[in-house]
Amino acid sequence: MVSTLSRVALCAAMVLFGVPSWSQPRASGTVSHAIASVAPHTAPRRWRYIVLHHTATAGGTVASIESAHLRRGMNRGLAYHFLIGNGRGLGDGAVEPGVRWRRQLPGAHVASALCEPERGVPYDEVAIGIALVGDLEQRPPTAAQQRALRELVASLQRRFHIDAAHVMGHGEVLGAHTACPGRRLGGGRAWATGAARRAELRRAVLRRAVLRARRRRR
Ligand SMILES: [Zn+2]
Repeated sequence: MVSTLSRVALCAAMVLFGVPSWSQPRASGTVSHAIASVAPHTAPRRWRYIVLHHTATAGGTVASIESAHLRRGMNRGLAYHFLIGNGRGLGDGAVEPGVRWRRQLPGAHVASALCEPERGVPYDEVAIGIALVGDLEQRPPTAAQQRALRELVASLQRRFHIDAAHVMGHGEVLGAHTACPGRRLGGGRAWATGAARRAELRRAVLRRAVLRARRRRR
């Protein structure tokens, strides 16, 4: 039983320091709401990658993109796990989960023949698909989309212990030949956390060292 005095102290502390985040109602469209939307009694999959896309459309909502995917034979609905709106349909910077996230189903956002190199598992089984609404070949994502993307990627990385080197654009997937997610994604991979860029540089240095060693052997 909580005494009146401690209840008053608790209220005063809440006013001073804010309500703890776990008890805050999560507003629809936010990153925390989207991630927490997994259906009850659904075990999380072992996600190991994050693959970024654009919808290559001027606008869209989960419903409109999903019906396009259904027409293309993706019978489990929206191919991506999350959509980030650009204000044309879905709100600017709003993050919405699709049925594949809510039910923790594999995605359908990478060609099914493409497998990740470490274990040979199809990317779609282990990669969370995030799509920015818009044609990022034509125009960059909005500032709100970039903020939401950074927050979503960082939250998913923390939750599933996903290495920054495993966060990539669709076109960076081994064997993929696509311009997706578009050259205007922005900020020299604005979504990257910095660690991805460092991992890239390490690989480039390694490649150069191997080439130098080969040249010396000739
Ligand atoms: Zn794509």
